[in-house]
Amino acid sequence: MNERTLIITGGSRGIGKSIALLFASSGYSIAIIYAGNDEKARETVEECRAFSVKAEAYKCNVASSEKVKETVAAIRKEFTGISVLVNNAGITRDGIAAMMKDEDWNDVIDTNLRGSFLMIRNTIPLFLRNKGGRIINISSVSGLMGNPGQANYSASKAGLIGLTKSIARELAQKNITCNAIAPGFIRTDMTKNLENTPLISSIPLGRMGDAEDIARTALFLASSPYITGEVIRVDGGLAM
Ligand code: NAP
Repeated sequence: MNERTLIITGGSRGIGKSIALLFASSGYSIAIIYAGNDEKARETVEECRAFSVKAEAYKCNVASSEKVKETVAAIRKEFTGISVLVNNAGITRDGIAAMMKDEDWNDVIDTNLRGSFLMIRNTIPLFLRNKGGRIINISSVSGLMGNPGQANYSASKAGLIGLTKSIARELAQKNITCNAIAPGFIRTDMTKNLENTPLISSIPLGRMGDAEDIARTALFLASSPYITGEVIRVDGGLAM
């Protein structure tokens, strides 16, 4: 059978790990990109390999144009059939706008938005060779609704939605789709301080989501050739 490969940024932990494992269990080879947590990356690679698929991890800051170029070239040498890119790597540096430091604004925009663009730009040639592809960007309800204390993060996630729609229009004729998922509050390291706070009672379904909820939506989009430019909320009704 022809190899089908997923490239996932931020695949070592949290939502990205769940996506990597669900795709591995569906027979995809997995190329994980992570920032620095070698142990978590190694663990996730081992768990993917337990599904008898190829899996490798690559340490790469997605905000670095050079590193992204090098890393995608390394993945291209190792894997064939690169058909799905999930831009999931993301960070927060919360604070009220009046006090926000330049570096906190820049780090969040560079990682969440620029990083996704750099990954897309470098992966397009691989999709063209493959005669199609699926790009899935992990945005956030913060990008839809705004959130006090998250001007940088909300701007990056709203920007991802504009990026998604432009890429969807630009590449539709090449059988490359581009969609976004907007998670609400999902239980991961990023949100460990939110459990049992009043914020959770504002979710119509009354609870936080699990990383698997996002993973199932990503797998659905990866297998949906006629959906492009869409933003799917997976948020328990939070942003309706
Ligand atoms: P997480 O548990 O904090 O994991 C973040 C992942 O991103 C890790 O694998 C980390 O690598 C990687 N990463 C961070 N900066 C990177 C960089 N510069 N280059 C490459 N990789 C980098 O986050 P999460 O909660 O799973 O969130 C995943 C995505 O969902 C993010 O984009 C986030 O904004 C979005 N999201 C999350 C929620 C939520 O409730 N959790 C809600 C809405 C949207 P290391 O392990 O090496 O550090």
